[in-house]
Amino acid sequence: MNSIRQPPTSPRADASPWGRSNRATFLARLWVGILAAAAATLRAAVAEPAAGTASSDAGKGRKNSKAKRWDVITIGNLSRNRYWGETDAKGVRSAICTCTVIQGEGFRLIVDPSLSNADEMAKELDRRTGLRPRDITAAFITHEHGDHWFGLAHFSEAKWLAAPDVAAALNKTNKLSKPVEAATGRLFDAIDVLPTPGHTLSHHSLRFDCDGTSVVVAGDAVATRDFWRERRGYYNCVDFELSAKTMDRIARLADVVVPGHDNYFLNLK
Ligand SMILES: [Zn+2]
Repeated sequence: MNSIRQPPTSPRADASPWGRSNRATFLARLWVGILAAAAATLRAAVAEPAAGTASSDAGKGRKNSKAKRWDVITIGNLSRNRYWGETDAKGVRSAICTCTVIQGEGFRLIVDPSLSNADEMAKELDRRTGLRPRDITAAFITHEHGDHWFGLAHFSEAKWLAAPDVAAALNKTNKLSKPVEAATGRLFDAIDVLPTPGHTLSHHSLRFDCDGTSVVVAGDAVATRDFWRERRGYYNCVDFELSAKTMDRIARLADVVVPGHDNYFLNLK
């Protein structure tokens, strides 16, 4: 009789929680499991998450973005701030909007150029990026309120961009030396133009990935961090309910929010 064909008779093997396995088989299975788990972890780490979806890292953004860096040029402020105990009824200081530069493969984009004085705008741009106004290749305006394009004229060599209805409103002012071009979809294969209605109906923000972080340059879709916390529109908001929904949508997309009149902040929830 060939003893090799005998079924296992060890009571210890039969009594084991792994059925008829012996210790060697169990260890082999354990290793297969460990290796499979390690391979899955590796695959998850290598896979690029889709924009706006959670990845194994904290950030929602892609790592291989063509946007390589971004800098806030001017940190904005409001003309009146209810969270500082000021009434909405009247302005108590000049508003300055938050102005951002996004740089990447083949583009240097300024968003909402904020300062009407050419020397001051150039000085802030230099102080924060080392760039001169003529180094900027494009400007994007989130909406037609004057404080978001006070400084556009200083970037005359750049392409001027805005969402179609915003571009139309700006071009109607007859205050610009050349037309603002309608922009939709994706800019420079790196930056999404997002409809973010509420503050104005045609308001648009920008979203891009940088170093695995999803950044939304919100413009006045988000006034300041305090307004964001309460999902509240600024006093001159056209549709407060829509504005709150837009902020919820931004919250699902962004790791970092650059508001229209405040420093940038992390979206931690
Ligand atoms: Zn505004």
